[in-house]
Amino acid sequence: MDISDIIIAGDTPGLEWRLPVFRFKGTKPEAPRTYIQAALHANELPGTALLHYLLERLRQAASDGGIRGDITVVPQANPIGAAQSHFGELQGRFDLGTRSNFNRDFPLIALGERSSLIEDIDRHSAVDQLKRQLLHMALHAELVLDLHCDDEGLQYAYIDEAFWPEAADLAAALDMRAVFLSDGESSAFEEAVAYAWKHERSGERKTSLPGRLSVTVELRGTRDVYPELARKDADGLFRFLAGRGAVVAQDRPLPAFGGVVAPLDNIEMIRAPEAGAILFHKDIGESVGAGDLLATIIARPGMPNGEIEVRAPQDGLVVTRVSTRFARRRSDLMKIACAEPSRMIRRPGTLEA
Ligand SMILES: [Zn+2]
Repeated sequence: MDISDIIIAGDTPGLEWRLPVFRFKGTKPEAPRTYIQAALHANELPGTALLHYLLERLRQAASDGGIRGDITVVPQANPIGAAQSHFGELQGRFDLGTRSNFNRDFPLIALGERSSLIEDIDRHSAVDQLKRQLLHMALHAELVLDLHCDDEGLQYAYIDEAFWPEAADLAAALDMRAVFLSDGESSAFEEAVAYAWKHERSGERKTSLPGRLSVTVELRGTRDVYPELARKDADGLFRFLAGRGAVVAQDRPLPAFGGVVAPLDNIEMIRAPEAGAILFHKDIGESVGAGDLLATIIARPGMPNGEIEVRAPQDGLVVTRVSTRFARRRSDLMKIACAEPSRMIRRPGTLEA
């Protein structure tokens, strides 16, 4: 194993960032190469904990000669975000200077243009340098996993339709409760990787990418950082890598994936009709029926008729819920995975800003 730091020049004098990268060399040139990163949204730590334990397993595998394909791991992908303490609270999702989401605006390039990502890199801002370095590493691999988490959430993933159902092995290995099939229409990290593969040669656009995978995994909620969960997920990820031939492991066949599969159009984004205190009636993991009471919003405390009911538009599984108990008008409350498309109009791309 090789550990090295990528140095990112800061935007002001005297500042630079260090990005630790762990690399394992594979023994089989035909085996898939893997790139895994965590905490691109710097306050999402379940993936960092997972990778800590996965690296332990990979070091062991390396000493046993069990690494077949090259593996690159970045357990804390965003030192810039991690340093943003705003009035005592970590602000890891958006760059405070530009208000841009750390997981949006990745360069959409063809695979053949990969080297251009880091040419004259110093002319880019620190955040853009970071994005270019991460994408550059990922585009060396065939299996790319970007580990995030939700606010309060079940284990689930955003997977481009181009990788489905082949990617059901990952969903099974990580014991996911749901898979959201995305349309590949955003500039998130995972979709920038898939974009490069789809446009490998100029003028073409592939719709299926066998043997490859680029995915955003949502490892439950921000507070779900525990040793048992991290070890269980590391074990699951190792089994996935073994199944794809990236590492050698005892043959334990993966179970079939038994969770919910829903295209993004079938995700009901439940929003608060007015501001107020949120009183949830349903938790993540619960199945709800059309018309079920999901939450009461106390919009005018103490007033008769001061409550507003929020009900389920259709049957589905509550996959995520916000952790705040104060709603602004139109703020998100829940994501519910459903069998039918939502009647709300969804713009192409991601569910959230
Ligand atoms: Zn995230």
